[in-house]
Amino acid sequence: MTQPIFMVGARGAGKTTVGSALAKALGYKFVDTDLYLLRTSGLSVADIVDREGWAGFRRRETETLKAISSPLTVVATGGGVVLSAENRDFMRQTGTVIYLRSPASTLANRLEDAPMEDQRPTLTGKPITEEMMQVLNEREALYQQAAHHVVDGTQDPTQVVNAIMEALALPMA
Ligand code: ADP
Ligand code: MG
Repeated sequence: MTQPIFMVGARGAGKTTVGSALAKALGYKFVDTDLYLLRTSGLSVADIVDREGWAGFRRRETETLKAISSPLTVVATGGGVVLSAENRDFMRQTGTVIYLRSPASTLANRLEDAPMEDQRPTLTGKPITEEMMQVLNEREALYQQAAHHVVDGTQDPTQVVNAIMEALALPMA
């Protein structure tokens, strides 16, 4: 299996952390859609949202997804990538989609512990646990729909990587 592996899940799910560790374990390349956008446009997610609104950001995100998807690559997507049916279909058809699933409280704790690692503006301006509960309410079904494998993302990153490797039934690289 050489097709791309897409990591999906909310902010704080571990898409970047677990995705890069998974890439290392498989000997795959690792790309993060937000970082790719920053490198190619010089704009952060916050800059793009300021200038073009979330709709502009979503359009660029879809273009990015298609541009960076290549064989032997783990792709960490943005938390809202599944909102677009086009994105969900594209990921399911061209790759293997992993949903890193954790409860809102876990996501909120991680984001509070490391606020600077996530450069995305909040979606609602509400307290973080409330926002994560709302986000999961809106998106849980979409994450599940997009995913080929749903993985428990609450364990430590090494264990999550092992669970993904088992799900993929791939030998350790
Ligand atoms: P995402 O890319 O999905 O937004 P990150 O990989 O940036 O999430 O992780 C957000 C924060 O949570 C980081 O501080 C990271 O170190 C921590 N983290 C990620 N995955 C785990 C995990 N499985 N267990 C504990 N902490 C984690
Ligand atoms: Mg990330």
